[in-house]
Amino acid sequence: MNTVGHFINGKMIAEENQTQPVYNPATGEVTKQVALASTKTIDQAIAAAKSAFPKWSKTPPIKRTKIMFKFRELLIENADEICRLIGEEHGKIIHDARGELQRGIENVEYACGAPELLKGEHSRNVGTDIDSWSEFHPLGVVAGITPFNFPVMVPLWMFPMAIVCGNTFVLKPSERDPSAIMFVAKLLQEAGLPNGVFNIVNGDKTSVDAILHHSDIEAVSFVGSTPIAEYIYTTASAQGKRCQALGGAKNHAIVMPDADLDNVVTSLLGAAFGSSGERCMALSVAVAVGDDTADKIIASLKPAIEKLRIGIHSDEDNDFGPVITGAHKSKILGHIQSALDQGAELVIDGSKAAPAGYEEGFFVGPTLIDRVTKKMDSYKAEIFGPVLQVIRVQTMEEAVQLINEHEYGNGTCIYTRDGEAARYFIDNIQVGMVGVNIPLPVPIASQSFGGWKRSLFGDLSIYGPDGVRFFTRRKTITQRWPSAKLREEKQFSMPT
Ligand code: NAD
Repeated sequence: MNTVGHFINGKMIAEENQTQPVYNPATGEVTKQVALASTKTIDQAIAAAKSAFPKWSKTPPIKRTKIMFKFRELLIENADEICRLIGEEHGKIIHDARGELQRGIENVEYACGAPELLKGEHSRNVGTDIDSWSEFHPLGVVAGITPFNFPVMVPLWMFPMAIVCGNTFVLKPSERDPSAIMFVAKLLQEAGLPNGVFNIVNGDKTSVDAILHHSDIEAVSFVGSTPIAEYIYTTASAQGKRCQALGGAKNHAIVMPDADLDNVVTSLLGAAFGSSGERCMALSVAVAVGDDTADKIIASLKPAIEKLRIGIHSDEDNDFGPVITGAHKSKILGHIQSALDQGAELVIDGSKAAPAGYEEGFFVGPTLIDRVTKKMDSYKAEIFGPVLQVIRVQTMEEAVQLINEHEYGNGTCIYTRDGEAARYFIDNIQVGMVGVNIPLPVPIASQSFGGWKRSLFGDLSIYGPDGVRFFTRRKTITQRWPSAKLREEKQFSMPT
């Protein structure tokens, strides 16, 4: 059986001592093993990145971006293979994997603007004969730690920008679906990236801890669940490292009585069940304003949900695939059961769904639960599965308060035809990414992505302009070439 190793200093490295199985979640079969890096392997990867840094950081940004342009072309040429690898290990349908890759490529395209993004800020004549400017310098060796649900896109949020800014990079991807990003590493090498600039170590907590405690790592960018994000942020910060740690979510859609119901139903279907609900921006709660609104949404959603197709990634007619592991499936079923035990009403039960021929796969069918309340455990938790819960409230203010009281603040949206309601919502909602009649308000690559509250630990969002700031540090130079007259003047007071 194949073992997925590491990519260090331009070479694929095997490590057979400690491994973990990788599944095809549609069949439940173990298809590969993934190596779990020892501390020694992590040291090796960081050493490779450290020795590549001096030369890479002095390479002109325009030369760095030439490699990124080529990398972009290779990602496009090899899209089928990348999406196949994503599908085999994550389970998402090929059309969804293509969307993931496309959003990732947009981050590569943004990084191709490095010469513009890094050109700094200049003020002439800030004092007599004095000019002042800021430059953005790379940090050194930086690390990325990423989740299973976007095995290619989330790494692409991080390393293209880090690299074009002049840093060298060590990525620790999810151990549950490592193959696609290993393939992508080879494309980056083919694009001309010097050895050691980009490295991948596969592994678990041991590898992550070795990264967090390594004195040569300057910054850590993390995306994953909230408990781990908090751990990464506190540990990395205590070690004096710069850190951004993006965590979990519970994304609500407010449905106002005047909303365009057809738009609500179509977009809720995709946003709640697409990718089996395993997206940090998935809409998992519909907050219906008024019982009449709730009844209408449910009446329209029910037949539409019953037509959804679940199955294997390679069949493009499927709407979504399995969840990532058997353990995760059990966790989702536990949340459904707990909602029922605590008094919610099961409208559509997906807990026993399994497409013919894939009975051993980790499938959960689309599930709709009504009359959920804010006290229920299934409401408080991030379910991260194809489960849509409906909460009934009487006013928009009540809906906004409900969302603001939740511990997460990643994404949200409102469906309405009323501009005043939309404006009230935008102004008062305590959430980082906000949609109006848009179910998944994922910022494009030239904006930055990040939640509020316990959905993000750190000061900067990820990618876009914040990405440039995260992966660089500012140096401000104040320079005077004094004229003969100025050279004679003594000054003892604070310069003004
Ligand atoms: P996870 O937190 O289990 O794992 C993320 C990474 O952390 C992986 O690389 C994993 O190996 C590592 N890790 C796991 N346990 C660890 C531990 N105890 N100590 C150190 N490292 C550890 O997340 P996941 O299940 O892979 O991904 C799903 C989660 O990610 C969801 O909560 C989802 O909302 C979140 N997510 C958030 C965003 C965002 O932008 N906010 C984007 C995608 C996913």
